[in-house]
Amino acid sequence: MKPIAPKAENNPAEEEAGGILSIDLAALAANYRALKKRAGGAQCAAVVKGDAYGIGLKPAAQALTLAGATTFFVALLNEARHLRAVCPAAQIYVLNGLAPGMAGEYRTLRAEPVLGSWPEIEEWDQFARSVSGDCPAAIHIDTGMRRHGLTQDDATAFAGRLKTLHFKPSLVMSHLACADDPKHPMNAKQISGFRALRNLFPGIPASLANSAGLLAHKDSLFDLVRPGIALYGGHAVLEAENPMKPIVRLDLRVIQVRHAQAGETVGYSAEFTLKRDSRIAVAAGGYADGIPRAAGSNDKRAGAEAVVAGKRCPLLGRISMDLITIDVTDIPETGVKRGDLVTLLGEGIGVDDLAAHAGTIGYEVLTSLGKRYSRLYRAG
Ligand SMILES: *Cc1c(COP(=O)(O)O)cnc(C)c1O
Repeated sequence: MKPIAPKAENNPAEEEAGGILSIDLAALAANYRALKKRAGGAQCAAVVKGDAYGIGLKPAAQALTLAGATTFFVALLNEARHLRAVCPAAQIYVLNGLAPGMAGEYRTLRAEPVLGSWPEIEEWDQFARSVSGDCPAAIHIDTGMRRHGLTQDDATAFAGRLKTLHFKPSLVMSHLACADDPKHPMNAKQISGFRALRNLFPGIPASLANSAGLLAHKDSLFDLVRPGIALYGGHAVLEAENPMKPIVRLDLRVIQVRHAQAGETVGYSAEFTLKRDSRIAVAAGGYADGIPRAAGSNDKRAGAEAVVAGKRCPLLGRISMDLITIDVTDIPETGVKRGDLVTLLGEGIGVDDLAAHAGTIGYEVLTSLGKRYSRLYRAG
């Protein structure tokens, strides 16, 4: 694989960085194509909010566009601006809706707010009345999430006002709260509720499914699907196999290998006691780089692992801001030395594995990927 795309601004050189974050854009494109296939007749959009779940908005959007994506979802107007700079022809939706007073800027960027409350609808409608030409926007209806979106009564009232509006909704959408758990009764409730509501908006495309909806709920696909985490290789559906390819790999530089004796403790608060004479590799990444602090270990519980010279090795003690300590006693002396790389993500360790050791989810591990790494984007 060859590196592509300009490296991010201020991207440190590999020799200077504590870690190397490699992002496989060919795998991202393959994931998009696989999801698009599963979407059948529905359009497959791509959710690229949160800097494309931490991997980098611009390179991700370029790779997804080459793979065939034409519709994108971001969370914020500012993200829409960055996206527009690399995708001049894309349809862009802004999930968090209309930022007050900013309607003109959405229109300039050709970004469509996802309107999820009366105040947003009123503001957008007044703006649409004041300008000539179309002002498309999406409408979000709440079917159970109780976060964003019109209530079902308000959606019904809104449907009655469609003819008097100064803009035409381009999409009617809702969001699944429990799609990662296929057995949860909320799914069927939301899907049937949404089916009834979308009928109030004839001729307007409808969208409900996130990654888990797309992968586990065939009846949630409607006209357009909105996968995010699955594009980035994350595990969307609990208790099912993850069919997606991993796209991130994280290697950290060893800054020293040291010896310590049985009975001594490692790290802050002396919470991990060595049970044998040990060799410890100290590697240059910590919670300031997004490695979850909760993934450390102590005398009561094991923590995350790293792959060193082809072998899984446990992390010892707490994760510091800039460093982790790894038990390499089982690796031959010649197998690991200062300057070598150890793998925290990759070689069979996925973002969800690291997340599980920290009581969090792959989404959070991805979106926390640090800014101090040397980032390498690779295409096939
Ligand atoms: C983030 C988000 C998605 C994508 O969800 P994934 O679980 O990452 O696939 C889809 N729709 C909405 C409204 C979202 O906020």
